[in-house]
Amino acid sequence: MKTYFKNYILLLLLIIIGTQNTYAWGFWAHKRINRLAVFTLPPEMMPLFKDNIEFLTEHAVDPDKRRYAINDEAPRHYIDLDHYCTFPCKDFPKKWNDAVNKYTEDTLKEYGIVPWHIQVMMGRLTKAFQEKDKLKILKTAADLGHYMADAHVPLHTSENYNGQMTNQVGIHGFWESRVPELLGEDYDYFVGKADIVRNSNEWIWNIVLQSHQALDTVLSFDRTLKASFPSDRIYSYEQRGETTVKVYSEEFTKAYDKMMGDLVERRLRASVLSVGSIWFTCWVNAGQPDLRKLVDKPLSEEEKKQEQEEEKLYQQGGRQYGRQHDETGKDGIKN
Ligand SMILES: [Zn+2]
Repeated sequence: MKTYFKNYILLLLLIIIGTQNTYAWGFWAHKRINRLAVFTLPPEMMPLFKDNIEFLTEHAVDPDKRRYAINDEAPRHYIDLDHYCTFPCKDFPKKWNDAVNKYTEDTLKEYGIVPWHIQVMMGRLTKAFQEKDKLKILKTAADLGHYMADAHVPLHTSENYNGQMTNQVGIHGFWESRVPELLGEDYDYFVGKADIVRNSNEWIWNIVLQSHQALDTVLSFDRTLKASFPSDRIYSYEQRGETTVKVYSEEFTKAYDKMMGDLVERRLRASVLSVGSIWFTCWVNAGQPDLRKLVDKPLSEEEKKQEQEEEKLYQQGGRQYGRQHDETGKDGIKN
């Protein structure tokens, strides 16, 4: 019984570590972004958003968890722009229908659809506001916050998303988990007030293109720094529960962050403001409903079942659909 219990704890720890740092902003950053976005909102939105800040924080990572259950989930988190064009991608069709006509829907889904999925989610959130459906508003807002934040990550705009094409495997988790988790507490998160988004398609594409523009910095500075850094000080070992993992050393992480000119902090700050702005915009587009008067509609039996199934598959920690980012060896780096 004792061994069983010990194994169980170990398994739990492995699951926690294993699922923390796999895609997009890591879990820490996603939660932080949704949470801080609440404070950018106008007072009229606070009764709902501030009261449910824990929900919005916890559920900021649902879309990543869903990747264990839903085949179509993965491409919603990225777009491999370099598959199609080079920055500034002037000729790339930004509207969904134009892009489908040029490349087919299958191709788009293969290389990611984040800019368009954000717009689908905006439609859903606006509708939920109009229906005054409390739970639906919160769940959709949490999801939308996730995709919006993902669009700010440079490595989410590239086929070389984990440095696998340039001998930099592990950079995905390094950039969006290791750096923010180690240094993020000291970042400045005062970002001001949420703005109304006028042309959502153009606005979202601007964000994606800014991310893409920063891609070269993310990759080349890692290469340059590694070349000049004492090789025995690039990595270190950390204890996670009963597991020892190889990670980028604190010294290297700080040097990289500094070399990039606080790029991680800037993209985190931009994410917070964008998430707040998109929530605010959906509420305005829905006619600014009174958020103190909402209906408490429980989930249908089918929705409940689906949610339980997703949670179960995530907890089991099996294979996710789509691209696997945890080639880094569950937060650490494989030799
Ligand atoms: Zn994601």
